[in-house]
This record gives sequence, structure tokens and C-alpha cells, in this order.
Amino acid sequence: MANTHTSTSRYAQEFGAASSETSAARPRKGAAGRTAGVIRQEKLAPLSERLRKLGLVSDWDFVLHLPLRYEDETRITPIGRLNPGEVQQAQGTVERSGFVATPRGQQFSAILSDGTGRLQLRFIHYYPSIQSQLQPGKTVRVFGEPREAFGGGLEIVHPRIKPPVSRTDNLPQALTPIYPLGENIQQKWLRKRIDRAMLDLQVEDLVPVAVTERLGLPRLRESLEYLHNPPADASADALRDRTDPHWERLKFDELLAQQISLGETRRLARKAVALVLAPRADANLIVRFREHLPFALTGAQERVWKEIASDLARPEPMHRLVQGDVGSGKTVVAALAALRAVEAGYQAALMAPTEILAEQHFKKLVDWLTPLGIRTAWLTGRLKAAEKRRALEEIASGEARIVVGTHALIQDGVRFENLGLAIVDEQHRFGVAQRLALRTNGAAGVESESGETVEADANAAKPHLLMLSATPIPRTLAMSYLADLDVSVINELPPGRTPVTTKTIRIERKNEVVALVRAVVAEGRQAYWVCPLIEESEALDLTPAVQAAEELQRALPDLKVALLHGAMSAPEKEAVMTAFASGETDLLVATTVIEVGVDVPNATLMVIEHAERFGLAQLHQLRGRVGRGAARSACLLLYGGELSELGRERLKIIRETTDGFEIARRDLQLRGPGEFLGERQSGMPLLRFANLETDGALLEAARREAERWLREDRDRALAHARRWFSAKAEFLAA
Ligand code: ADP
Ligand code: MG
Repeated sequence: MANTHTSTSRYAQEFGAASSETSAARPRKGAAGRTAGVIRQEKLAPLSERLRKLGLVSDWDFVLHLPLRYEDETRITPIGRLNPGEVQQAQGTVERSGFVATPRGQQFSAILSDGTGRLQLRFIHYYPSIQSQLQPGKTVRVFGEPREAFGGGLEIVHPRIKPPVSRTDNLPQALTPIYPLGENIQQKWLRKRIDRAMLDLQVEDLVPVAVTERLGLPRLRESLEYLHNPPADASADALRDRTDPHWERLKFDELLAQQISLGETRRLARKAVALVLAPRADANLIVRFREHLPFALTGAQERVWKEIASDLARPEPMHRLVQGDVGSGKTVVAALAALRAVEAGYQAALMAPTEILAEQHFKKLVDWLTPLGIRTAWLTGRLKAAEKRRALEEIASGEARIVVGTHALIQDGVRFENLGLAIVDEQHRFGVAQRLALRTNGAAGVESESGETVEADANAAKPHLLMLSATPIPRTLAMSYLADLDVSVINELPPGRTPVTTKTIRIERKNEVVALVRAVVAEGRQAYWVCPLIEESEALDLTPAVQAAEELQRALPDLKVALLHGAMSAPEKEAVMTAFASGETDLLVATTVIEVGVDVPNATLMVIEHAERFGLAQLHQLRGRVGRGAARSACLLLYGGELSELGRERLKIIRETTDGFEIARRDLQLRGPGEFLGERQSGMPLLRFANLETDGALLEAARREAERWLREDRDRALAHARRWFSAKAEFLAA
């Protein structure tokens, strides 16, 4: 049954709603509902609209619309020799055909034979014309992937149907390109449209010959012709894997366009004006702050702070990402930056992705800064109306010099007196738009008399932006998606920490783990126990956190066990966290709400139940909750059931390395960049052709060439980028 799904979705992707190519099956006007059974004619958006959805507007867009794959229609296979699971072409005469009632609706079925065997054709979606098209006695050519049918023999679901050929030299001589299709757009039509665009367009190669020669890549026209119409002897593997030099050329062009766009975005951002937050001779906040800190900054923290301070003193907005593994001490660096803003007479805001984390930051900052006479405000969506009003007033009047909060900080109604610096913690949890919004809220705070917000003057000074992340982004990704940021890395942990020991243990040995918890607590330490799910789920055989907490309390009657999960109210969560942080609770049983940022140095044991269900980044974050003090810490990964290949691999990576960058790199290998980053994070179209994992060398080349090109002939470089992204996004406008 799994196959049905595959063929249906592939069918939807490649064929829009119509499966057949002959004119009889092509819908006249009006489109196609995709429910099972006969395809209904519905009102269709105009063709140009439907094409626009695919990004197809100009001739260029068509020319750059490259095949998903190719089909070999140069041969006909006798039905008796068809191989299941392989896309092939057959030709035969319809023995019988008709509608069949199934539980999923009415289907259409036909039996085709050619003297060597019989083949069933099955249609879950079809046009009424299918009946005449597959009338008994007719000879047709069919193309598709046969598989074992329920009742024995082979069947093809949604084959493409073509007119028969009498001689094999009437068959196509080249591989047939299969293009990505949209709603009710036909392969054959699109193929013709692309051919025409190739003829109409000069396909001027904007990339200088010197560049393609340097890289040993073919010219553009040649590459496009080859990819749209590869010769029959083209290497199917090289085409499929996109390692063919003609593919390489197109991937290079795409990466080049991306790097040019990023370079340009970056240049424009640099042109904006920002407040100058320079040290002042009469201010000594930072000096006093550092005197009061119970520790000295690490070398890496010092270096990163210097980089930030120098950005802040410049009249263009800082746009810097601080990457540092969990526990590397990013918060104190952020606090220094905030103090620099305060010293200079401006406000600073710190936004965190969760309530717990924002709260921790708030408490820490209040601890650090109240003795220095600095007022810090607190803003979340959960404040009572009166509290919220007061916070907003403090922020607007400037009484609060530093504001800490959640998303609430970027919601309407938040107006700063004079925001100089916006800090976003765990920036990967926010989308690009959100992190930029914090800065805009600060700059755009002018209200007209009618109470409407007036757009800030484009020339108004912008606050600086500092982002913190514990999710290290591998170099190829950073080059592609964060190239508009400057990146600082805190590559050193505070001294006196012993590395966390990681072990994987079968869940059957849980008793031994419980005993270890008891021993750890007996030494005056604390432990975390993380469960993947809060509610009982029969579908997934997971121990729910509630049940786990009860069980553990029963097994460890002398210990204080507490439960923390996402469905609890904010005050409940807060109470639990406070009790744990103060050492009142010994064991914290939690769902992944503690994943990010929680800081309790006395906790030295992390148990993760059903670790195989977690992502690598998540496991690394969770493990980072321990090993925060000088005591020996351990992380135990409990797994159950039969591990998949991937599951085994993931646990192995976590066990073998504690280096966040290395984990991220291997995570990228396992998952690919799309999922790693998420569309939301990238804030720009993901690449269509190039693959950051395998095309690292091309990316490096593209970056070099983009820089050179922008320097030497900016207009032409921008023309190249526009060509690639014209219909895809408001890319250059961003
Ligand atoms: P993260 O980078 O994961 O956000 P934090 O900023 O929460 O890390 O810091 C982790 C812990 O290390 C905190 O308890 C913090 O006070 C402490 N810390 C930070 N810098 C230093 C340092 N230079 N020396 C000792 N401890 C430090
Ligand atoms: Mg942190």
C-alpha cells in the first residue's frame, strides 16, 4: 500500500492533475480536483497565474526551469520482460477496460497485452476521456513504473499514455526531460514552451569566459541545451547525481547569484546609519560590572567582547552573531554589550525564545545590574494587564534601561525611548523577520497624533543587532545563509570544567541508572531526567513524563523529585525551576522545555530517556545542561527497541564527540541543509540545484568569484543575480 502513496504523490508533482499526454486526455478548459475518481473540471486560475506560482514569468525563468529527471523513451520493453520498480516503456493492445468500484472510490482499469505478457493499467484519478482512450482493441504506448499487482502480475498506476509507434526509429532519439509541474500544466506543453524560450532568448552568458575557463566549466548555452535535451548516450548517473559538468555550471551560476545577492544585501546594510555606542570617559559601568563578576572572562570571551565593542562604536549597525557552544558563557558577553549601550545613554533589549530562558536572563541581569543602579524591565505575554502597562510605560519613558522578554518584545505597542542595542538569544529559534523586528520596534517608535504608528524615517539611526546561538552552523551553511552577518565564535569553555562523560544504555538497564541518580544526589549533587513526551501516547511507546516522575519518586522515596513540562502554567514552571536552581529539589523530571539555556551548575547528571527520538542538536543542548561546574558530570542516553541505522549513527555521534561544531557538521551530513536550517531560518529561497553538502567546492569558488565580480563590474554581477531570482523572491529588495 505504501507504493500507492508514492505513485500518487509523484503523480501529483509531475503531472499536476492530468496524467496523460494525448489530446483526448488533456483537460479542455477548467481544471481538476484531485479527489479519487473522475477529475472534475473546476474553475482554473489563468495560465499566467499558475505559471507564476512555479516562478515562470520571463523567458529566462523558463530556460532555467531544469528537469527533475529524465525518462528513457528511446526503447520499448516487451511486457513479459518488464522489471518491477524500474521506469520503462511498453506497447500493446487493450484487451479489456472499465470502471471498478473500490472502497476508495471508483477507479479505471485496463489490461494491455503484446503477446509476451499482460499488464494492468490502473487510474485512481482520471478524465472521462480515459474510456475512449483505452477502448478495447486500441493499441497504445505506455510509460511508467510497473510493480507487483495485488492479484498477481504487474500493474502500472497512472502510466503516461502515448500514441503507438510502428517502428522503433519513430521513438525519441534523446532522453525525455521531466520538468517540475504545477496545477494543470502539461509536460508536453512546458517542454515546447521551454524550447521556444531557448530559441527566442540569446542566452547571453554574463559570466566572463575567464571565470568558466578557470573552473573548467562549459558555457551557459551549451549547458542549458544539454540539460534540456541530453543526447541518448549521456551518462544517466551523472545526470541523476548532477555531477555532469553541465549541471555543475548551472549550480555554480546559482551559487554565484546567491553570493552576489548576499554581498549586495550586506553592502546596503552597511550603508545604514546607527547610533555610535562608544566608551565614555565619564562612565564606569563596565569597569564596575567586571569588578563585581565572580569570575574572569575567558580569552575567547574577551576577544568576542572586543569585536562587539568595536562594532558598537561605529556609525553603521552591527549585525553580529556570537556562536558559542552550550555553557561557553555568551550571556555575560551580551550583558557587557547591553551595559555599553546604557553607558552611552541608550536602552538595550534582550529577547529569548522561551519564558523560562527569558526569566533566567532577567534574574541574572537583575542580580548583576541592580547593584550598579540599573533598572531592568521584564516583559512577557503572560503579564497581567496592569503589570504589562507598567512595564510598557517604563520602557517608553526610559526608566527601564534594559528590557528582557520573550516574543512579547516585538509585539505591537512596545515602544522604546531610545533603543541602542537589540540582543536575540538562541537566534535559530526565531525567524529572520522576528529578529529584525526587534530592531525595527526600537527605531520606529514614533506615534502620530491620531495614534497610528508612523514609519520611521529611513535615514533614522538604527539600533545595533547582536545574536547569540549555541547551534553552530557549519561553514558551508554559514557562507550561504548567514553571509550577511559577522560571526564571532567563543571557542573556549570557562576553566575548571571537566568534560561530560556520555554513555548509551539500553532502557532495560534503567534500574542501574536509577541507582546512579541516588548516588549522585547522596554526594549533594542534582540530576535531570528528560522524557520525550508529556501525554500518554499509545501510538508511540514512550514513558510519559508524568508517569516517569511518579515511578522515580517511588523508586527514590528519599529524594525530592519535581516535574516540569510544557503544559504547565508559567508560575508553576517558575516555581519548579526556582526550587531546582536553589538546590531544594534533587531530581528534575522534565520534557524538553529545559532544552535551552537552563543553568544550574550543581546538576551533574543528565539522563535522557528514549534518546533515539531526539535530534542531534537537541541532545547536545540537553547534555550542555550539565558539566557547568567543576564537578564530574555524566550524560546517560537510554534507548529502547530496535535502533534504526540512523538512530544508531546519531547516538554514536553524540557519544563520541562533545564539540558542537563537529556534531552540527555530522548532523548536516545526515539530514541535509533544508531540514537543518528550516526554511524559516534561512529567510531566503533554499537552493534549487546546488547542494551545500556536496557542492562545498563550488560554493567556495562562487564566493570568490562573486566578490571579485562585484568589485570589478557590479552592474553585470547584479544582472546575473536578478536573472536567477527574478520571479523567485523579492530577493534583492530584502
Ligand atoms: P551559554 O553560552 O550556554 O548561554 P551561559 O552564559 O549561561 O552559557 O554561561 C554558563 C555558565 O558559565 C554560567 O553559570 C555563567 O555564569 C558561567 N560563566 C560564564 N563565563 C564564565 C567564566 N569566564 N568563568 C567562569 N564561569 C563563567
Ligand atoms: Mg545561553
